[in-house]
Amino acid sequence: MSDSIDDVRQRMAVLRARVESAARRVGRDPASVQIIGAAKRQPIERVAAAIRAGLRDLGENYVQEMTAKQRELQEILAPDSIAALRWHGIGHLQSNKAREAARSCYRVHTVDSLRLAAALEREAARAGRVLEVLLQVNLSREPQKSGADPDALPELVEGLRPFVHLRAVGLMTMPAPDPDPEAARPVFRKLRELAAALRARPGGAALTELSMGMSDDFEVAVEEGATWVRIGTALFGPREGS
Ligand SMILES: *Cc1c(COP(=O)(O)O)cnc(C)c1O
Repeated sequence: MSDSIDDVRQRMAVLRARVESAARRVGRDPASVQIIGAAKRQPIERVAAAIRAGLRDLGENYVQEMTAKQRELQEILAPDSIAALRWHGIGHLQSNKAREAARSCYRVHTVDSLRLAAALEREAARAGRVLEVLLQVNLSREPQKSGADPDALPELVEGLRPFVHLRAVGLMTMPAPDPDPEAARPVFRKLRELAAALRARPGGAALTELSMGMSDDFEVAVEEGATWVRIGTALFGPREGS
């Protein structure tokens, strides 16, 4: 493996420093920004190394990959560091995966329809828990992309109100890929404005989190108000099979 565990430890420190300076540049408290390690297709040793270096939040795109990593990490790490982990579902979620997701995730960042929300509500109730969710917004308006249309958000927020086992805590977005990180700035800003508008509406007051920013554009996202950045390659190194 070309990427050693020391590299992960060092990248973790560099990432934290970059998040902190981006936050300070705009007068934000660096502690208001948290790093999710987007662990898809990453070897388990690198994930374990990041956890040993202080990473507490892990994101997975597929529930099966999440539960597989949860099992593997139990073989590697001490029970107290396992117990401290928080698993975030960050990939598009099919309603038929709602049961697994409601059991394995601390948060689901990708709720984009009432249908999916209803499935998660049912499964969270069955699991006897309250599941925190973020609403994914499609701001690039690419029809093939997942995420709710911004115009549909007020209705979605309203529709979630009867769901006592779900708590909507914020918004998430993924800009269209662009080599220039500045291209994402208007998208991140728009997400922040949407959240502020929704907070003024019935049922929207708790929408305080913004999940936005990845390896190439997280500093711009932090400048625009991200509270969660989802970092893959800049933390763990190149993914397997890429
Ligand atoms: C892969 C992925 C990330 C991280 O991507 P990097 O560019 O490797 O940082 C973040 N969010 C989602 C939803 C992803 O699928």
